[in-house]
Amino acid sequence: MSITVVGSVALDSVETPLGKKEDALGGAATYFSTAASLYTKVQLVGVVGDDFPEEHIEFLRKRGVGLEGLQRRHGLTFRWSGRYRYEDINNAETIETQLGLFGDFDPELPESYREADCVFLANIDPDLQLKVLQQVRQPKLKVLDSMNFWITNKKEELTEVIKKVDVVLMNEGEALQYGETFSLVAAARKILQLGPKVLLAKRGEYGAAMFADQTFFFAPAYPLEVVTDPTGAGDTFAGGFLGYLSRAGDYSLAAMKRAVLHGSAMASFTIEDYSIDRLRSLTLAEVEQRVTDFAGFTSPEAEAVFDKLRLHS
Ligand code: AMP
Repeated sequence: MSITVVGSVALDSVETPLGKKEDALGGAATYFSTAASLYTKVQLVGVVGDDFPEEHIEFLRKRGVGLEGLQRRHGLTFRWSGRYRYEDINNAETIETQLGLFGDFDPELPESYREADCVFLANIDPDLQLKVLQQVRQPKLKVLDSMNFWITNKKEELTEVIKKVDVVLMNEGEALQYGETFSLVAAARKILQLGPKVLLAKRGEYGAAMFADQTFFFAPAYPLEVVTDPTGAGDTFAGGFLGYLSRAGDYSLAAMKRAVLHGSAMASFTIEDYSIDRLRSLTLAEVEQRVTDFAGFTSPEAEAVFDKLRLHS
């Protein structure tokens, strides 16, 4: 059981109406690895510069994340800065993206990474995603994430990668942008026609929707009283989703529906605090409790207690 992941390892600066955080540990692959390592072995592919604090590397190492494929080079780490407003907590407004060393990164997968059961192509340049895909042997599941930045700048290349994966993960708005439609169902149809078995659309505070050839499934988001920083919700959703599948060793559509609930629960913890901070102490038992709670929120026969929602970390 293992997952190989390629994606950004970053220093993020995030602004919300509640506060500002500069140069915090971020990046799609960082968030993903931190979440998925609660379930299974994760092997990271990426690059950081000499401005990247050693303590972050130490954190990932202690977490058990494989770092043989994380290059440290002379130059600058990927940096992203963004802003969230009360009016739209589901979509970050990008202030600046600096690719740094990812601009000419050439991923070389260590031998041990090539046999992974799952590959997660986290949000990064589709050319890099393709290079990683070409080096893995026969993974049971290939999953891709992307975002507006790459849809706008590299749609053709992104389409080539989409054709080669089993599951596509995107924010709802990005799936609509990619499909050039106002209908998520129509966007799902277009993406599935390219080859993937599943489109998983992340819908922020409204949860997630999964579309496959013969079935679809909607999962809620966990209702939270404290929302601090939505950054990383999408990537930790992916970490819970793939982590669950890899641990179960079951990649059926039925398992994917359960995995979506794990993704949704995991994301809810992430946004309670800045960066990956809430995940530092998170246990799988806490995630499982929220997965169980979902049943009470969506069945009219169940009696969910509003006051219980005060109980957050
Ligand atoms: P999300 O889970 O969707 O909130 O993703 C948040 C992470 O994506 C941040 O930690 C950023 O460092 C990273 N990110 C933002 N823009 C890009 C991009 N264009 N390519 C790769 N990673 C990005």
